[in-house]
Amino acid sequence: MLQDLYKEIVLDHYRRPRHRGELENADLREHLLNPLCGDEVTVYARFRGDDLAEVSFTGRGCSISQASASMLTERLSGKSREEAEGELEAFLEMMRTEENEDLGDLVALKGIIQTPNRIRCATLAWTAFKQGLDSGG
Ligand code: ZN
Repeated sequence: MLQDLYKEIVLDHYRRPRHRGELENADLREHLLNPLCGDEVTVYARFRGDDLAEVSFTGRGCSISQASASMLTERLSGKSREEAEGELEAFLEMMRTEENEDLGDLVALKGIIQTPNRIRCATLAWTAFKQGLDSGG
């Protein structure tokens, strides 16, 4: 079942988070809370020129919030600032509206969410990263 595949993708990121850990000398560092669920995430990025040379996160909370942060780091590593902005917009738009096949595995986050409250869990890291970019990080 597609639903099982989605769960598997999300749990894999939760159990084996990618790029987890604080980034020393980060150019972008943004912390955000989701009081609805008790999730917490900090995203970090280091630029090389206009590109995101490294992206990482730390945090704690539910599996959706932490898996989503892990997926963000994979998705945005190596992207230019402009590309990253596009990815962030596309993801947040998908969470508000409907599934978007162009976003690959990220669709799993949309697919497993059963209640609107959980959207905050899935978008926490993405919103944090967007705020970090917007504030000149
Ligand atoms: Zn949560």
